[in-house]
Amino acid sequence: MPDLAEIDERIDRASGRPFGRRFHLRGRERSTAELRGPRTMRAHAAEIVGERLAPAEPRNDGRQTPYRNHPVFVAQHATATCCRTCVEKWHDIARGHRLDRDERAYVVEVVGRWIDRELAAGEPERAVRSRVRP
Ligand SMILES: [Zn+2]
Repeated sequence: MPDLAEIDERIDRASGRPFGRRFHLRGRERSTAELRGPRTMRAHAAEIVGERLAPAEPRNDGRQTPYRNHPVFVAQHATATCCRTCVEKWHDIARGHRLDRDERAYVVEVVGRWIDRELAAGEPERAVRSRVRP
């Protein structure tokens, strides 16, 4: 398992992509993460990763991660842990095998850490275009 500095670096790289930058915790997903806390977020991430990402050939790979309704889903898009193609490209974990215990723990930590960082950073402002202009 990479250390925290390495995990942060991977998160910075993935969430700095133009696609990754679109994702932040807002509204209901943000409240859920705040209310349930970091341990529960990691427990949910472990469940979601185990079901949707860990199989050697995940069902609907590339389209298995919804965009809303759970903070873990948002985190997966931000951190490029949404599908096995992204995990291979951005996290150097090859496709085509079942994710082992360490690999699952790594993905869970990437997701959990991104959520921690989002909450610590405060809620992002809405897009400029939605603001009322004088
Ligand atoms: Zn993906």
